[in-house]
Amino acid sequence: MQGLMQTWPLTVDKILDHAKNWHTDREIVSRSVEGPMVRTTWGEVHTRAKRLSNALKGLGIQKGDRVATLAWNTARHIEAWYGIMGMGAVCHTLNPRLFAEQLCYIVNHAEDQVIFTDLTFLPILLEHRAKMPSVKHVIVMTDEAHMKNVAFPGALCFETLVAEHSADCVWGDFDENTPAALCYTSGTTGNPKGVLYTHRSNFIHTLVTMGRDVMGIAAADTVLPVVPMFHANAWGLAFSCAAIGAKLVNPGQKLDGASIYELLESESVTFSAAVPTVWQMLLTHMRENNLALSTLQRVVIGGSAVPEALVRAFRDDYGVSVTHAWGMTETSPLGTLASPTGKTAKLSAEEQLRFTLKQGRPPIGIELKLVDDEGNRLPHDGVTFGKLMVRGAFVVGEYFKGDGGEILDDEGYFDTGDVATIDPDGFMQITDRAKDVIKSGGEWISTIEIENIAVGHPKAELAAVIGAAHPKWDERPVLLVKLMPGQTGTKEEFLAFLEGKIAKWWTPDDVVFVDDIPLGATGKIDKKLIRLRMADYVLPTARPAGVGAKETA
Ligand code: AMP
Repeated sequence: MQGLMQTWPLTVDKILDHAKNWHTDREIVSRSVEGPMVRTTWGEVHTRAKRLSNALKGLGIQKGDRVATLAWNTARHIEAWYGIMGMGAVCHTLNPRLFAEQLCYIVNHAEDQVIFTDLTFLPILLEHRAKMPSVKHVIVMTDEAHMKNVAFPGALCFETLVAEHSADCVWGDFDENTPAALCYTSGTTGNPKGVLYTHRSNFIHTLVTMGRDVMGIAAADTVLPVVPMFHANAWGLAFSCAAIGAKLVNPGQKLDGASIYELLESESVTFSAAVPTVWQMLLTHMRENNLALSTLQRVVIGGSAVPEALVRAFRDDYGVSVTHAWGMTETSPLGTLASPTGKTAKLSAEEQLRFTLKQGRPPIGIELKLVDDEGNRLPHDGVTFGKLMVRGAFVVGEYFKGDGGEILDDEGYFDTGDVATIDPDGFMQITDRAKDVIKSGGEWISTIEIENIAVGHPKAELAAVIGAAHPKWDERPVLLVKLMPGQTGTKEEFLAFLEGKIAKWWTPDDVVFVDDIPLGATGKIDKKLIRLRMADYVLPTARPAGVGAKETA
């Protein structure tokens, strides 16, 4: 027997339809790539996205074809995004921070037929176009005036296409399991792999993210997603802002502290989302210039672990509440959030912090388990480390074109590659990426935990911990510190700062001061590169007597 309710396929075009029908005048404000601020509305974006669907059809794009975007967060990017998905093509967001070789690999693997690009990325496309044979058209996201300076043979102008095509176009009308979007993982191990989201998975993710314990945005909010649309769908905000009818503020390419501060204040932003490094830059800018935040109420921080000092600064100095989130491209991306439970909400602010700093609990739609190397379930006691496994309504089932083979275990769980604990209150805490965790004398040391304490040292700008070979313990931790400009520091003062905050045997065997701690394409510390730079490094505790330190980073 079947239920007797209406069939209403969960396709994402309905999200923008809803925004047009019920929030038509709600604003979308963008810092354009050309410079000036541009103001539009959900209603206008809807019409222009439909025109773009017709333009794509005119270029021969059909359902299921991949159409890429190489772009910052702007209203034009939102229009391209819905224009592609609405007609049933697949919106492939390219991360412009990747190396050109990786970009070419991804474009070829996806067989992208069209690339929408900002002016910023024309040189790189021009240089590598010959290596992207599937690409038939390049659409430059600009107007005719700026097109005059574009020296790219055959390139099409976004605004001309919008002007030339009608908005009369049927959207949706296909199965909810049709692919909507494609996003590649950052490829820290081997080639990047494609995660092919369905309309249904994105729609459900959108509904889930709107919950109060998740992103919790409302129609009256003004939302600034600093997190790029090419980083796991701007954590779903490109959908949820339309679904709820929030005002959307797009930062374009200017993600520095001063530019973000200016937008937060000039547009009266109430909610924002970004990785920790962006917030560090904002705090530095505000402290240096003695600035306050007048409207911001809440920020969601994820992508890497949130340092305690960051949460305290937002809470105590600026009155902004922080929600720590964990997720990955493979989970659409929201997997857990450290929102309070009935029990933890009753605790003092100081006691709550212990939970806020964890990566948190899964919302409906996500299931988690912790297992050992043999796949046996581990206890949720807050101390036992295990592999974090996830399954759910918006979690990857297999990678695009079957890359990586079978990726689910017997119970249908995906191995996140993260090592974590889960406490008796259900708060998950990431210890490390499995490949970064330090194994010292058979026990595990969390590099993330040490880093987050070390970066709270007033002289530290960034901190990273890696394992270095040790003859007795296999591996021991080394702390790398990038100091604030103009500062000097000693190994002893950093070790003293850690004392009492971590187990004694976790204390790094060495502290190395470096000029640079490299960040990868999604703003995370690039440990692979650090390990390469430190390849010749030998721990003082592993050196033959009398040999001095060699600082290679
Ligand atoms: P990506 O697919 O690029 O978003 O990367 C996902 C990975 O980022 C996860 O598997 C984690 O290793 C890491 N990550 C994301 N959020 C957090 C967080 N809040 N704390 C620690 N690591 C995180």
